[in-house]
Order: sequence, then structure tokens, then C-alpha cells
Amino acid sequence: MSSAEPQSINIYKFGGTSVCDASGVRNVAGIVERNARERLVLVVSAMGKSTNRLEEVVRCWFDGKRPEAVEQAGMLRDYHHEIIKELAEHPAMKRKLLAGVEPLFARLFGHLDEAAPARETYNRMYDQVVGLGELISSRILSDYLNLTGIENRWLDARDWVVTNNTYRDARVDWAATRTAISQLNSCPDMRMVVQGFVGRDAVSGDSTTLGREGSDYTAAIFAHCLGADELTIWKDVPGVMDADPRRFPFARLISELPYEEAVEMTYYGASVIHPKTIKPLQNMGIKLRVRSFIRPELPGTLIHGAAEKSKSRPYIIVKRPQALITVRTRDFSFFAEEHLSLIYTELYRLGIKAHLMQQTALSFRFCVDDDPYKVQPLLHALSPILETEWEGGLDLWTLRHQSDRTEKGLLSGRKILVEQRSPQLVQLVLK
Ligand code: ADP
Ligand code: ASP
Ligand code: MG
Repeated sequence: MSSAEPQSINIYKFGGTSVCDASGVRNVAGIVERNARERLVLVVSAMGKSTNRLEEVVRCWFDGKRPEAVEQAGMLRDYHHEIIKELAEHPAMKRKLLAGVEPLFARLFGHLDEAAPARETYNRMYDQVVGLGELISSRILSDYLNLTGIENRWLDARDWVVTNNTYRDARVDWAATRTAISQLNSCPDMRMVVQGFVGRDAVSGDSTTLGREGSDYTAAIFAHCLGADELTIWKDVPGVMDADPRRFPFARLISELPYEEAVEMTYYGASVIHPKTIKPLQNMGIKLRVRSFIRPELPGTLIHGAAEKSKSRPYIIVKRPQALITVRTRDFSFFAEEHLSLIYTELYRLGIKAHLMQQTALSFRFCVDDDPYKVQPLLHALSPILETEWEGGLDLWTLRHQSDRTEKGLLSGRKILVEQRSPQLVQLVLK
């Protein structure tokens, strides 16, 4: 092939479940070896539940419980050491794999040597610590692939994904990111391994994260900026299904989906794909495949522009846990624009998304993710002007084109707190 015709590039994304142990890492290596004949960027998340563990480390550290924070960090190191021990085929291989991650664990423990930082720096420090999970997993995967003959280059995503400083939910600076990542098009390496979830604030140089479950989004960022042919997201399910199979055993695979329907499903909470993933692909006409890393021989779901739009594809999406907030005017005046404006201002300031809204003459109800670190500040901000009431631990169900019978069967025994119907969709807040 001449240098004027760059070889096409594909992106693979593997989540935490796919690399939660040594056999998972070997399985990923097998998939890469068997399937990826073209140039490849491999995006990987933190192993297993490492992100949750790192969140715990940060929480304990900020609560002044340093011994607990160190203990949690130690458990995380043991977990990765165990994976390395099982992966290593001989002592020299083990030494190499350990040498790759030791500086990262040193950085983690180094943070904890410092006294608990000021509360206001929580989000910033969270990103410096929690993003280490992806750095560790990608180091192990990249080194393991190289040591088993699958040559690749390890990339630090923070050199390529440029963001602002909205820590824990950083916004991508698309122009700067495109300029950076497009340089990889001329890079001769066949394969590159890079972390999902992390980026860097161009101004401060701090690490940032793109929000929980953000690795799918990273994969879409690389696909978009490289003009990739295809992005494949490897999951523990056969593909996108018409309901979460973990909750609804009757769920069936959807073999093809247009971008618009995929955007809609993820918007309502189909957690199989991060909601920000589809748009960057749609804008460039890049196909998205969702395939099973457990049954990699199956075709999975193909999401693309030419897929037939279906007005009647039924699905069930459950988003949980949700908090239902009800606000009322204090003086019995009608609920008006000034009250809505206050609510939207506070939602925006606190980075909270409202998922369902219902207004009456005297009240306004809306659903948000049931996160105490967000719900309580919101109630606190609204209460000087509005009466507030809330209930947590709820489900938000979105049903599309279900028959009355199916709907009744699904909902039997559940208490409906809010109901919103349109010809296509039913949304319900359930207790
Ligand atoms: P990752 O390993 O990439 O983090 P996730 O665990 O976030 O993957 O996503 C996969 C999970 O998404 C599945 O195990 C499944 O329970 C859940 N899921 C929710 N809705 C759907 C759906 N409509 N189709 C398939 N899986 C779904
Ligand atoms: N590791 C991060 C998380 O658990 C990002 C991801 O897995 O997509 O949220
Ligand atoms: Mg996930």
C-alpha cells in the first residue's frame, strides 16, 4: 500500500467487565488477534470495579480516614498484582508487567501521603486519583499484548483528549482534540492501546475525567477524530437488546438500529452505551457495532445511518435509582416562568439533568439521579423560594410501544407516582 493511501483504522473498546481477571485479559488478546487485521486503536476501561474502589479511596481520604484510604488502595494493588501473577508465563514476564504498574501505584500512595485536601478541591483531586484505574489497566493490557507478540504502542489519553476543567464531567475541546488525535493518522503503529474515561485540562495540565461510564465516549472521540471506519464496543451482552437482559430475561437482541433510535434509547437510560457516544459517530457516518466479548463469533448489533427506522420497535428502559422532587410556590401564586428559571439555573449550576418533568398550576415535579451529593445541594438552593419535597430510591421506566397487556404484567404490584403518556412513549416513576 502506498503512503498516499493510509490504511483504514478501526476502534475497539473493552469495558471493565471484559478485563476483570487474567482470563478476561487473555480473551481480549484473542479477540484482537483474531479479528483486528486493520490498524486499531484499543480503548480500555479500569479493570473490574476498580473505579468504585478508587472512589472509595478518595472518599476516605477526604473524610480524614487515611488508614482506610491506604487499605483500600492496598486492596486495589493486590487485585492487580493477582491478575499480573496469573497472566505471567514466566518470572521475567511478571517482572515486566509489575514494572509497568509500579509507578502508577506509587503515584496513588503518594497522593495519600499528603494531608486530606480542602473540601473545595474534591472534584479536582477525584480526577487525579480515580483516572489512575484506566492508566493501570491499559498499562497491563498493552504490556501483556507486547509480551505475547501482539505489538502495540501505549498512549496516554491525556496527551490527546483535551478538555475544560469541569472535573468529573469534563467537556471535550473538540477543535484541540481533533488537531491532536488526527496526528495519529500518520503514525506507523498498527495498534495503539489507550485509556477510556480520562483527558487533560489544557490550561492547568490537570488530569480530568469524562463522567462515570465515559470510556464508550472516549472510543467515539477517537473514532470521530481519526475518521475511523467502525467502532466496536465489546460488552458482556449479545448487543443492544429491547430491555436489560439482567432485569428482563425475555429481552431480545436488536440486530440493527439507526443512530436516532440509539440516541433516544441511551438518552432514556439504556446503560449499555454511554449517551454521549452516538453523536460523534453519527456526524461522521461511522458505524457502531456492539458485540459480545463472551460470544465474539456473534454479529451483535449494528448501529448506522442506513438502518431502517422503525416506528414500532418496542423497548423497555429502566433508569435507577431516581429521586422525585416536588416543588411548590410558598405563597399560593401560580407556578410561573420565574420559578422554572430558578430551577433550571440551579440544575445547570450543579450539573444535574432532569429526566422527566410535570407542571401543574401550583407545583412542578421532576426526576433526577438519586445522588445525595447533588440532590441535597439542589434542595438547599431551592428552599428559600420554594417549598420542596423529595423521595429517593425510585425507578424511571420508559416504555415504547408495549401492549396494554404487557404493560399491566410488567407493572403489577408497583406503585406509580408519576405517569406521562404520548402516542409513542410512556414514562413512569415507580416505587
Ligand atoms: P462496560 O463493561 O462497558 O462498562 P456496562 O456494564 O456498562 O459495560 O454495560 C453492559 C450492561 O448493560 C449489560 O450487562 C446489561 O445488563 C446492561 N444493559 C442495560 N440496558 C441494556 C440493553 N438495552 N441491552 C443490553 N444491555 C443492557
Ligand atoms: N472506569 C470508568 C467507570 O467505571 C469509566 C468506564 O468504565 O467507562 O465509570
Ligand atoms: Mg461500565
